[in-house]
Amino acid sequence: MACERLNESSAKKLLAGADSFLFDCDGVLWDGRGVIPGSLETIKKLKALGKKVFYVTNNSSKTRDGYLQKAKQFGFPATVDEIVCTAYIAALYLKNKQFKGKVFVVGNTAMGQELDAVGIAHTGIGPAPTVGGIPDWVDLKWDSDIKCVLVGFDADISYMKILRAASYLQRPECLFVGTNEDTHLPVNNSATRIPGTGTMVIAVAFPAQRKPVIVGKPEPPMFEELKKLHNLNSDRCVMVGDRLESDIGLAKSCGLKSMLVLSGVTSEAELPKPNPAQATGSDIPVVPDFYTNCLGDLGKFI
Ligand code: PLP
Ligand code: CA
Repeated sequence: MACERLNESSAKKLLAGADSFLFDCDGVLWDGRGVIPGSLETIKKLKALGKKVFYVTNNSSKTRDGYLQKAKQFGFPATVDEIVCTAYIAALYLKNKQFKGKVFVVGNTAMGQELDAVGIAHTGIGPAPTVGGIPDWVDLKWDSDIKCVLVGFDADISYMKILRAASYLQRPECLFVGTNEDTHLPVNNSATRIPGTGTMVIAVAFPAQRKPVIVGKPEPPMFEELKKLHNLNSDRCVMVGDRLESDIGLAKSCGLKSMLVLSGVTSEAELPKPNPAQATGSDIPVVPDFYTNCLGDLGKFI
């Protein structure tokens, strides 16, 4: 199946068939330069039509409140219930599992704050203490309460932190949770490649030889939580994103309709080609139902 450019008739059909819209944030609503023109107006029009709107981001470096402040600074009419970010979902995932014990976090302060909010003890945030040589490493003091390693965006990741995380993961009962596996962060400068959270997740998974549970897009937990909290019907939800693997992938894994916008990381040249008949498994391209230049294009049809 090839993807179809949004037009007036498909936009009207999409709007009539949906009562909830999930928006990826960076690359759809805003980017490093500010609000993407037309996105604010579209969100306001959707809300005026009575549609539910959610802000769904893989960015683990802000709490829900931090994201709410960011959305409000840009003028988006958001409430905290509409924000779904991976730091929050990771904490909720552990809470719903009735997790008992302490979490070793390879991550940032926002992840710690979301764990605090659900009453889960944690350690590991911030630069890891460095030690001199191999004899010191084997003498590290291991915390017997650690029952989970949680990995998210961590600009302070280091050899010693990876060593600790991978060592805790040698305990069979220790859970391994990752916020998301984005390869790189969006940047408006093609000469710079900023490693995304997938870098930190792989750095721990590789020596641990374990596979994490990922709570962020494209895996289902973010949508499953939203669905429970807001009584959503997947058939009547549309996911709008700028990244095929994570955003459109989420729509595919949860049975949502999808629209890709070209205002972020995916260019028109990268859009999936018609599916070769023999494609199987991971060769099958992730194809959005529709694509368009930017979110404002949908707003023009409201
Ligand atoms: N992870 C981090 C650390 C980020 O800074 C960003 C965007 O700024 C993302 C992920 C991608 O976020 P989104 O899912 O909103 O595109
Ligand atoms: Ca994005």
